[in-house]
Amino acid sequence: MLKACYEHDVPVTVRGAGTGNYGQAMPLAGGGVLNLAEMNRIKDIGPGRIVCESGALLSAIHDAASETGQELRLHPSTYSTATAVGGFVTGGSGGIG
Ligand SMILES: Cc1cc2nc3c(=O)[nH]c(=O)nc-3n(C[C@H](O)[C@H](O)[C@H](O)COP(=O)(O)OP(=O)(O)OC[C@H]3O[C@@H](n4cnc5c(N)ncnc54)[C@H](O)[C@@H]3O)c2cc1C
Repeated sequence: MLKACYEHDVPVTVRGAGTGNYGQAMPLAGGGVLNLAEMNRIKDIGPGRIVCESGALLSAIHDAASETGQELRLHPSTYSTATAVGGFVTGGSGGIG
């Protein structure tokens, strides 16, 4: 999709779970919406680090971390719905519920 949009000079808006408070995932300039919510695999967890795809949910990461005796320590109200790396970090969130 990115290749086609780039070739035709079409803007692309990336979307996680679409919960951003300020409409960040809305394609205000038109064009395409790249939905990465299903790109959600957790690939690896080590001491103090995790490797995952951008659509992994905060709750899924926390659950996976719990199995190794660790925890995420991020508890926004969208804990069960928001994507962690995609929406939460890139959207500038970072608060506790
Ligand atoms: C009812 C409600 C309660 C909330 N409570 C809290 C709270 O208590 N604490 C707190 O900190 N926040 C809170 N939020 C904000 C919430 O944390 C964000 O809405 C959430 O983190 C966004 O995640 P998302 O997956 O829905 O991202 P989206 O809304 O889909 O996207 C957010 C931004 O990230 C970009 N983006 C998404 N995926 C990618 C990617 N893979 N690559 C590059 N850019 C990407 C989008 O383009 C967009 O700009 C709340 C929101 C709601 C609606």
